[in-house]
Amino acid sequence: MANDPSAAGAPPAAAAALKSFKHFINGEFVDSKGGKSFEKRSPADNTLIGHVQEGGQPEIDAAVAAAKAAMEGPWGRMSIDERAALLHKVADEITRRFGDFVAAEMADTGQPKSMMEHAFIPRGAANFKIFADVVKNVATESFMTPTPDGAGALNYALRVPKGVIGVICPWNAPLLLMTWKVGPAMACGNAVIVKPSEETPGTATLLGEVMNAVGVPKGVYNVVHGLGPNSAGEFLTKHEGVAAITFTGETRTGAAIIKNTSDGIRDVSFELGGKNAGLIFADCDFDAAIEGTMRSVFLNCGQVCLGTERLYVERPIFDKFVAALKAKAEALKTGPSEEKGVNLGPLISKEHQTKVLSYYAKAKAEGATIVTGGGVPEMPGALANGSWVQPTIWTGLPETASVIREEIFGPCCHITPFDDEADAIRMANDTKYGLSTAIWTSNLSRAHRVAAKVEVGITWINSWFLRDLRTPFGGSKQSGIGREGGVHSLEFYTELRNVCVKL
Ligand code: NAD
Repeated sequence: MANDPSAAGAPPAAAAALKSFKHFINGEFVDSKGGKSFEKRSPADNTLIGHVQEGGQPEIDAAVAAAKAAMEGPWGRMSIDERAALLHKVADEITRRFGDFVAAEMADTGQPKSMMEHAFIPRGAANFKIFADVVKNVATESFMTPTPDGAGALNYALRVPKGVIGVICPWNAPLLLMTWKVGPAMACGNAVIVKPSEETPGTATLLGEVMNAVGVPKGVYNVVHGLGPNSAGEFLTKHEGVAAITFTGETRTGAAIIKNTSDGIRDVSFELGGKNAGLIFADCDFDAAIEGTMRSVFLNCGQVCLGTERLYVERPIFDKFVAALKAKAEALKTGPSEEKGVNLGPLISKEHQTKVLSYYAKAKAEGATIVTGGGVPEMPGALANGSWVQPTIWTGLPETASVIREEIFGPCCHITPFDDEADAIRMANDTKYGLSTAIWTSNLSRAHRVAAKVEVGITWINSWFLRDLRTPFGGSKQSGIGREGGVHSLEFYTELRNVCVKL
């Protein structure tokens, strides 16, 4: 089974036939017992790519049983060194099959090949190595405790895996965001059950082949495909055998999941939505600010949780900034993944296209000045059926407008002028979300001052999306619960036990 191309989806050209995305449970690719499946369509032209098995209660039960058996079996007995070495092999095998991973992710998301090759796939592989190394090097605490008899007591901590971890993922950077959780969870000795997004079944399935190829014991890594409510997602969050849920996705989905996990009092780690501000001061390096803002608005067709859909620009450079961003946005090349020079792909699905276009319509109805875009680009041939939208910039709306308050998750932004620093901070913080901010200024004191006042989990100064995986990553307010990255991931995926020895 390990190299069965029909299991994980080979590139469309090679497969010619439709793909079949199967569950990966206990080391084997399997269909749903109930025979249910759903379609996966291409974001670029809406053609049918294949069928995805829809998991139900029997598949979740089987995956939990396999994961528990793995924890009690060879996986649970493995030393940290052995586990870390195996995770390095996982990363190396992803790199060896780089082309397959790039092809699977491109087919699922439709995003430019260059982005897959330079960022999403290599970073996805690196997550296994980085967390293996972190886990090996973290000490536990100990205390000498005085006692009345003078002999004292030694308190020390043991760090143990939490158990079976449910990993629920979104579609916007499928492999990267999934391994960001699976890497540390496995490094800490847990077994995982991944529920990939229904939009992006490819790379999670392919990773099953990798796990088998390098000898990860069966049951450690499981994939159950399916939808959210009344499907694999909900059944996973409700299962009593699952010790904790780590989830990345929309805030309202997080709210539904927390209700389901409350029954068994299970731990959650949430990376949720955002409505992030870019703050551009008149003293910034103008070209760098335009370059960085282009990325923070349009990368991945705006489908990045850390993206800046709200820009606040200091009045003296407002007109110049709007004109420069418009010129650059209009120079973006929209097209399919493989085409040379393309830097804007389609949205993930027709459903998401409808959502983004509804915001384009709302902006117009609420009286926005449409600086550029606002509709669907003309695409040639079959591409006309894909989920394309134009890169879009608005100005002139009050802070109460829907496109300023709600997360759109598309290639668009609204730009508002501001007159002083306090004004900019107030508007940046006037949101229920708190994920990220990008500040552009050459005044060092101002940069630190503003960074300390914006209510977000991560602030970039004169950059955006620059990540050191050892740093704490997560959202404030309704953008998340907990932090991931470096030792912070370790905190979630392990439990500390105290042992007290009376001397
Ligand atoms: P989503 O919430 O619709 O879906 C995410 C996953 O949850 C999918 O696998 C889905 O099937 C599953 N799901 C849906 N309902 C469920 C339920 N009731 N129980 C269990 N599982 C359920 O999100 P999406 O549209 O896939 O992703 C986009 C969202 O993700 C945006 O809001 C974006 O900001 C957010 N996001 C956040 C981060 C971050 O780090 N904070 C990173 C990437 C994406």
